[in-house]
Amino acid sequence: MDKETMIAELVKMVGRDNVLSSAMYFKLYEYDASLNRSQPDCIVLTESTEQVAQVVKFAHANRIPLIARGTGTNLSGGSVAVQGGISLVLTKMNKILDLDIENQRVVVQPGIITLDLKNELAKHGYLYQPDPASEKVTTIGGNFGENAGGPHCLKYGVTSNHVLGAEVVLDNGEVIRVGGKALDNPGFDLLGILGASEGTLGIVTEATLRIVPKAEAIKTMLCIFDSIEDGGNTVTAIIGEGMIPATLEMMDNLTIKAVEEAYHVGFPLDAAAILIVELDGLKDGMDRLTERILAICRQHKVREIRVAKDQAERDKIWAGRKGAFGAVGRLRPNYLVNDGTVPRTRLPETLAKVVEIGKKYRLPIANVFHAGDGNLHPLILFDERDKDELARVHAAATEIMEVCAAMGGTISGEHGIGLEKMHGMAMVFSEKDMAAMRQVKAAFDPLNLLNPGKVLPESEKAA
Ligand SMILES: Cc1cc2nc3c(=O)[nH]c(=O)nc-3n(C[C@H](O)[C@H](O)[C@H](O)COP(=O)(O)OP(=O)(O)OC[C@H]3O[C@@H](n4cnc5c(N)ncnc54)[C@H](O)[C@@H]3O)c2cc1C
Repeated sequence: MDKETMIAELVKMVGRDNVLSSAMYFKLYEYDASLNRSQPDCIVLTESTEQVAQVVKFAHANRIPLIARGTGTNLSGGSVAVQGGISLVLTKMNKILDLDIENQRVVVQPGIITLDLKNELAKHGYLYQPDPASEKVTTIGGNFGENAGGPHCLKYGVTSNHVLGAEVVLDNGEVIRVGGKALDNPGFDLLGILGASEGTLGIVTEATLRIVPKAEAIKTMLCIFDSIEDGGNTVTAIIGEGMIPATLEMMDNLTIKAVEEAYHVGFPLDAAAILIVELDGLKDGMDRLTERILAICRQHKVREIRVAKDQAERDKIWAGRKGAFGAVGRLRPNYLVNDGTVPRTRLPETLAKVVEIGKKYRLPIANVFHAGDGNLHPLILFDERDKDELARVHAAATEIMEVCAAMGGTISGEHGIGLEKMHGMAMVFSEKDMAAMRQVKAAFDPLNLLNPGKVLPESEKAA
């Protein structure tokens, strides 16, 4: 089908204002937060499940690739239209459909911004736990698509642990429901398969989420270290003692300096590492737990500990952590974020290897990590206009993935595979493992129209 006919047909389904097809829009929707770029043939915004189903049916009948898109902040190329087709933007579907406090559930449309949802829940004293640092701008649909994590996911689990049900438009436009407000659904765990599937198996048009009352008490501590190793060992010791704080987040010196220069939150410029420990729970026992954490920090040569006295001080610490990527982005024109995960006891060793890789490829690398989860985010800084530097960035990123795999870890903790890490899949999965995944993809999307060319590399046989 030619482009003009396609656009005319789509306009009939969703209205003129919801079909974007000018050169400016193609430019705006050609990228996400990864380094990949490719233009769709058309951008369609939908306002209801019925419209999504109609568009998907049309794409299916005409063999047009279809890429679900939230706000396009993913870091792995997940929402880039690598084979052209329709970019299906869900951000207009942003309503809370049912706030069910008694059952501790909320039903939302996929385009709701994560922080908007949280702000609304806060009015009722409730919380939706997953907190990607990008929560100000990301959608719940995109969070589920990537199985997003965040600082508080150490204690509470990542997005898929909080999505209990979904309405899903399948590849042929049929609408199904999986899970719901109740727990323990029988049958195959389709919800489990859909989480982190990066828009390759179906389009989520509604999600039922778990919500919880806000914690009675919170203690946030900023622990300052003269060596990364001491910080890493503190993390291991805290968890080794059987405590799971709400967060255990670390940053290295390059990140600390970038954050301080950007936000002036009071981070010490000469520290080798800072560790943010947050405890939440009941008031009773909170002081005792805090003392135990402080004692462990002291045993591991902490230089200084600052315990936030009030919400304003806590907000300052979190503004520094959540703004870390943005702050590092000021240092060079581009950065590439890695997302490997290793058993947490191997974090210091892995970081030492990351430093070596930075030296080998002559690239500055800033490190931010969800230390409690063993999830590293080395941010490789560069200028993409320098082709030699860009080639070194890709080589360094691949080597970091190899190191994480060799440490018994994996290549993505929370940012997904998308396009960027497809070549790393063979580092952690055998050809047989991937063949099983391809069978799942073929069962959901036999024509390979939903976000094609992502997550799964071609089989060795096909290549
Ligand atoms: C500065 C910065 C900080 C970040 N911090 C974090 C962090 O702390 N933790 C973290 O996990 N990530 C983080 N990210 C990455 C990113 O924000 C997340 O991956 C987020 O979940 C993407 O949401 P989105 O709405 O932008 O989705 P998009 O990027 O638009 O889409 C992501 C994927 O989900 C699919 N998708 C989108 N909507 C749907 C739907 N309704 N149904 C089916 N599939 C769908 C898309 O096809 C795509 O594959 C960060 C990114 C930036 C730029």
